[in-house]
Amino acid sequence: MRLRILGCSGGELPRHRTTCFLVDGRLAIDAGALTATLTLRQLARVDDIILTHSHFDHVKDVPLAADLLIGHRKTPLRVHASSECAATLRDSIFNGRLWPDFTRLPTRQNPVLQIRPFTPGKRFKAGRYAVDPVAVHHPVESVGFVLSDGKATIGVSGDTGPTTAFWKRINAERDLVALLVEMSFPNALQRLADVSGHLTPNTLARELAKVNRNGYPVYLYHLKPAYEAELRRDLRKLALDNVRILAMGDEFHF
Ligand SMILES: [Zn+2]
Ligand SMILES: [Zn+2]
Repeated sequence: MRLRILGCSGGELPRHRTTCFLVDGRLAIDAGALTATLTLRQLARVDDIILTHSHFDHVKDVPLAADLLIGHRKTPLRVHASSECAATLRDSIFNGRLWPDFTRLPTRQNPVLQIRPFTPGKRFKAGRYAVDPVAVHHPVESVGFVLSDGKATIGVSGDTGPTTAFWKRINAERDLVALLVEMSFPNALQRLADVSGHLTPNTLARELAKVNRNGYPVYLYHLKPAYEAELRRDLRKLALDNVRILAMGDEFHF
């Protein structure tokens, strides 16, 4: 499995792009940085997007990609979203006002985009990948993913505050090669992190204590760019073992 970090930030600025992890050039986990990083040819090779939740920084390139891909794909780009997230995409983006309904364009028979709802807790297939969506703690319906290509398995927390089921699922996984976890706000903004369903370095440390790790690394993402220096300072003080912050452009082979 080849994992490319197209974006791993909680906001967009020069040198900061929002959450988007590309697996083997074929599947994207969240769509925060597809159109700014991939060429049209590379974008046309992405068959599946799996979305953790409906927040703008995670879905923003779904509408932009749909528009770009008309005439460049033989089959629809499949967007896998929880039922609530799928409804938000239909009602709030592809509603003919904010953006055209690309699930019916260029034709109803062969649209450029297909939205496929999934149920949190129920495994589904996205291309050749098995995906387990596990509910996490966030103001909208939101999931973390356990994704496997049959050989390597990775975990991605999605946006979440302190949670339980996802860590249980991670602990049940034998073949995990990497765990990607959000960390958004510095300790000084603990209250904001709590009400918005995010982690600080302090709550991250408490969450990781729930995980029985067997040597695999933890990669952090979704840092709010305005607080990045403070976040790094807070994290350093905790001296967590085998935990590091992702950088845009990172590439891994598992
Ligand atoms: Zn969010
Ligand atoms: Zn987010």
